[in-house]
Formats: sequence, C-alpha cells, structure tokens
Amino acid sequence: MSYTNIINMLDLGGIPVKARERKENFPLIMAGGPCAFNPEPLADFIDFFVLGEGEEVILEILGLLKTSKAGHGDFNKNRFLQEAARIKGVYVPGFYEVSYHQDGTIKQVEPVLEGIPPVVFKRVVKDFDNAAFPTRTLVPHTETIHDRVMLEVLRGCSRGCRFCQAGVIYRPVRERDADKLLAQAEELVGSTGYEEIALTSLSTADYTCVEPLIKKLLDRYGEKGVGVSLPSLRVDAFSVNLARQVQEVRKSGLTFAPEAGTQRLRDVINKGVTEEDIKETTYAAFSQGWTSIKLYFMIGLPTETYEDLDGIVDLAQKILSIGRQAKPAHVKKPIKITVSASSFVPKAHTPFQWEGQEARESLREKQRYLKEKFRKLKNVKFHYHEVEVSFLEAAFARGNRRLGEVLEKAWMLGCKFDGWSEHFKYQLWLEAFASFGLDPEFFANRSFGTEETLPWDHLSSGVSKEWLAREYRLAREGTHTEDCRSAPCYGCGVCSQLDVKPQTKR
Ligand code: SF4
Repeated sequence: MSYTNIINMLDLGGIPVKARERKENFPLIMAGGPCAFNPEPLADFIDFFVLGEGEEVILEILGLLKTSKAGHGDFNKNRFLQEAARIKGVYVPGFYEVSYHQDGTIKQVEPVLEGIPPVVFKRVVKDFDNAAFPTRTLVPHTETIHDRVMLEVLRGCSRGCRFCQAGVIYRPVRERDADKLLAQAEELVGSTGYEEIALTSLSTADYTCVEPLIKKLLDRYGEKGVGVSLPSLRVDAFSVNLARQVQEVRKSGLTFAPEAGTQRLRDVINKGVTEEDIKETTYAAFSQGWTSIKLYFMIGLPTETYEDLDGIVDLAQKILSIGRQAKPAHVKKPIKITVSASSFVPKAHTPFQWEGQEARESLREKQRYLKEKFRKLKNVKFHYHEVEVSFLEAAFARGNRRLGEVLEKAWMLGCKFDGWSEHFKYQLWLEAFASFGLDPEFFANRSFGTEETLPWDHLSSGVSKEWLAREYRLAREGTHTEDCRSAPCYGCGVCSQLDVKPQTKR
C-alpha cells in the first residue's frame, strides 16, 4: 500500500514520475528489496531494479555510473541503462516487452535488446562473514524506528513455510561468525552510543551460537547499560529461554506466530510447529513471569475450513488456562492474550503464488465468526485487518505491468499514505482500476494456472519454479518438508543455481 507514496515522493521532488519522461538531467531512480521480486506494477516509474543483496552489486553499479559520467557532461541515460542491464541482478524494465493473451494473462516477457538476459537472477553474498557491514552509521537526533545497533546474525531461513516470501528470496541460510559479530558490536556501540543491540535475522533462535553470543554480549555491555533484544522468536521453549536471558525486566509481552489453528493446516503451510510446542512454549513464558502473549494467525489460508477457525479459538482458550496454571504466585497481573488474524495474501515466488486470495465476503464472514466466538472469552482480545486492504495488497503482490497506470491514477485521485488506515481510500482505488477496465479480482482472487506465465517469471530468486510447484502439491497433500539445515537437501535449486555453498548448522 505504499506504492503511491513512491510516485508522490518523486513528484514532491520535482521529478517526472514516469521513467521514460526523465531525461539526463534528472536523477536515476533505482529500487530494491522484497518488492523488487515482482516489481511490474512499478515498472513505469523506476529506471532499474536490483534483485537480491545490495552489498554484492552496488559497487558494480556505482563503478559503471562513474565511467559513464567520466566524459563530464555527456552522460547518456539510455546507454548507462543498457550497460546496467548486463550487470547480474539488475533489471531494467524498459528493456523488456510484455505481451498478453486476449484474456489478459501474460503471453510472454521478452528482452528487446540483444545481450540482455531473458531471466534476471538475484545477487547473493557468498562470503557472508567477510561481507561489508557498516559500523559507522548515521545517528539521528530524533528517536526513530530501529533506534538501536543492528547485528545481522544470519541471513535466510530454510524452514520453508509455504506462504512466506522472505523464506524463499533470502535463501540460502548463511550464518555470521560469532567473533565477527562481537567485533562489529564493539565498533557499533562505540561509534553510535546506542543502548540496545538487536540480533536481527528472519529467525534469530536458529543461529547456532545464539546462547554463547548473547551471554558474551551481556557480560560485555550489561554493566554499561547496553541491552540485547531479539526481534523475532520461534514457537519453542528455547526461544522463551533466550527472551528471558535478554529481558530482565519483563515489561513487554511475547509474540508467537502459530499461523494456523489446527495441525492439519499447519502441515499444509509447512509451519513445523505442533500443539505440544505451543503449549510448552507458552507454559515456559507464563511460568517465567510473562502475563501477556500475542498470537499471530492468518485466515483464508489454502484449504482452510471452519474447523481450523475453531482451532484458533480452542488454542487461545488452552493457552489462557495454561497461563492461569503456570503463573507464579507472586505475579498479580491477570493473564492476557491477544489474537491477531490477518487475511492471507498470496505472494510471488512462494509455493502459494498460484493460489487466489479468498473472496472478500467469505473472509468477512470468517472474521465475524471469530469475533463472535472471542467476544465470549474474557481476557482474550481479537484483532483483524481490513479485508479491503489485504485485497489490494494481493492485487499488487500478484499484479502485472498494467497496474502501473492504475497506481498513477489512484495517486492522482488522492490515494497517498494508504498503508495508514485513516488514509485508506478504498473507493478511489476501485475507481482507478475501473477507469482502465481492469478488475482487481483478476489479480487478487484468480488462481493462476501452473502452466501460466507469471508476471515475475523473468525474475528469479534462484529457487526453481518446479520446486515451488512441488511444494504447492505437497501442501495440498498436507505433507511436511523438513528444514534443509537439519535434513538432506531437497533440491530447491538456489545453492546450485547461484553457486553458494549450503550451510548446515555450525
Ligand atoms: S539447494 Fe538444498 S541446501 Fe540449498 S537451500 Fe535449497 S534445499 Fe537447502
């Protein structure tokens, strides 16, 4: 929902919003990050996208820019972009032509220049230990989000949750050596003065040396008033133990994401978490003094039934009673549980990329059902997201290049900051789609055929489409796929495709 803000930023900067309207005297606009793996809705506005890990490719891009500008004054944007499109990981949408079938599906996406790759592969850091890491960062005068030292302990996640885009596009898992991290912490604390060190990754408890690392950091910085935090926790007692180590005063609550209410559905989505794990984890948390726990679920997951929704309520009820049993006698605060259920948004490059999002009315009905059930449960709060926001998110997450004009129109109609609920203007979005005869349901709710050319098929994370299709089939069978760091490689393709050494646990 932030896409119109990109257009808005360009406009406020006095920069023509369309890439083809920007001549040599305007800045080059590049973009990266997870959305660059299906950037087609933004193709009209961005000069080039970078797929994958920036530190691996940025010097090549800047080197090319330097030589392109060396002639002082004769910088030719088109020539620069033609050369940039030959750098691995760089996607210049203007050099790819999309053709469509009569029914609006994509016929093909083809490069229009010779020497431009038909498929752009992401860039990946192979030597993660020695990759550049900024240790003298700018420290703002105001308190901002992420106002702390960030130590990236590992990159990637091999657990293979089938809805998760990050789990695919950041593959394979690479860990950073603990001594390297300690040296980085020393420099970062010294140069920034921050009072908190966050151990970041997609799943920090999966870092092999997490316990000794935390201990060393606390020993070294505890007395200086510098704490350690873990932004993401797995649903297991080990994670609670880690949280206890880093959080002496238990002021904040703990958050866990079982994602689905029944074992059957957790197997479908490959969330390798059992009810026993959830019970053990929450028991450990309550017995160590936490009184407030947040649980994240999704509704509208593939194959979901009302039994799975009852499973969410049932689980919350069980956790509440575990809390009452496990709470130490000296803790007076009542046990509180917050259940948050977002609507499933299928994402590009995941095994569920083919699956259409559930219809809005059906999702609303599910929300009403859960709301009614939770209304009767004291000390359980239930939150859910607006269905219309998730619907538009799905349309743009699975959208093609035709949505560029919709974005521009929506922005012209006044859609800005729509990620903030008070600014969300659903009717204007629908108006923008209608003005080009496009139906958002075509992108959001339609299940794509496995033979269909997807809007992002010419962009690759290194993970093969065949493997994603196999995982989609296994999901429907409810068959679990093991984590490849503790089981043999199941051939997702990324390690051989990008020539990266698979890393087992250290
Ligand atoms: S190629 Fe094999 S080892 Fe590498 S990430 Fe995929 S499944 Fe894991």
